[in-house]
Amino acid sequence: MHTVNAYAATSATEPLSPTTIERREVGPRDVLIEIKYCGICHSDIHHARSEWGEQTYPVVPGHEIAGIVTAVGSEVTKFDVGDRAGVGCLVDSCRECVNCRAGREQYCVQGGGTLTFGSVDKDGRLTQGGYSTHITVDQDFVLKLPRNVDLAQVAPLLCAGITTYSPLRHWGAGPGKKVAVIGLGGLGHMAVKFAHAMGAEVTVLSQSLKKMDDGLRLGADHYYATSDPETFEKLAGTFDLIVNTVSAKLDLDAYLGLLAVDGALVNVGAPAEPLSLHVFSLLMKGRSFAGSLIGGLPETQEMLDFCDEHGIGAEVEVIPAEKINEAYDRVLASDVRYRFVIDTTTLA
Ligand code: NAP
Ligand code: ZN
Ligand code: ZN
Repeated sequence: MHTVNAYAATSATEPLSPTTIERREVGPRDVLIEIKYCGICHSDIHHARSEWGEQTYPVVPGHEIAGIVTAVGSEVTKFDVGDRAGVGCLVDSCRECVNCRAGREQYCVQGGGTLTFGSVDKDGRLTQGGYSTHITVDQDFVLKLPRNVDLAQVAPLLCAGITTYSPLRHWGAGPGKKVAVIGLGGLGHMAVKFAHAMGAEVTVLSQSLKKMDDGLRLGADHYYATSDPETFEKLAGTFDLIVNTVSAKLDLDAYLGLLAVDGALVNVGAPAEPLSLHVFSLLMKGRSFAGSLIGGLPETQEMLDFCDEHGIGAEVEVIPAEKINEAYDRVLASDVRYRFVIDTTTLA
């Protein structure tokens, strides 16, 4: 075990605060990563505040980890000391079930895999995330990172990136397809970049027009405010695919009405409250309502390689660790352009 600095939530209501945690020694198949940057995902906030169910505290959030390899175990073949390396939402899974064998570890039948923080690891200890200076992870769950993109901008790809890339690929975003993205936050702005890079016609549906210039610069062709009721009349029956990234409850029927025949609305936003819909919103035009959870390891690597090829990274505001609580408040106020990333060297 070795002790490293970190920032942890100690209860659902207290601000996060500095602490130390233990990382395991580097085993034969392990990679030790010196974390340089860690993104702040809205899921970190849901977790830290026990919005999805009671957490065990203290918990160190963070699953958008980008850093440099500083040690490798004797059987590690994928990485060398000095390589860029990333870790997303998963650090392990059963590796044997039908979904793990298909490279869809996020749907592991044995409980959905071992999450980077807040899960019980094989050694019985609670996993702790990336708001820390180092992490030890099995090489199979470590990703190779783009070399042509600034490392701070790479970190959010490990969750916001894959979570939007995966449903866009699954539901066929590409030339000739009209894709809408609800919410221009961390996930939403990556969805816009990817859908544009895949060749789709992209529309942002944001609460207001405040971020319109950014949305168009990021690759959107159109931008509408959902606070304006005319938006829903004008765009009725338009889209082949809508990706909903909103962290709060929405009127699903209103958004389903924007889908064309056979269109799909995919929810990646994960509000704690149940959502409801009228089935007629689906039946009348053969529409689908679907969900998607991050992505498996092979698809995450595919997404990172796509980003390397297209020079895609997140739009980030880099902050020192002492500003984590302030950043949480700003995310909750939809005041994020477009991902806060912690400079984890400020924890050293
Ligand atoms: P975020 O940066 O806070 O972005 C969410 C955006 O939704 C906001 O920027 C805002 O965009 C819009 N929004 C917020 N509150 C709203 C409201 N009350 N009504 C309408 N729109 C609202 O959050 P994020 O990190 O992108 O995460 C978004 C959600 O996805 C969270 O629930 C998170 O837990 C979840 N998530 C899911 C997965 C998965 O695997 N499925 C992975 C990661 C995250 P505008 O200002 O443009 O309206
Ligand atoms: Zn996340
Ligand atoms: Zn499995």
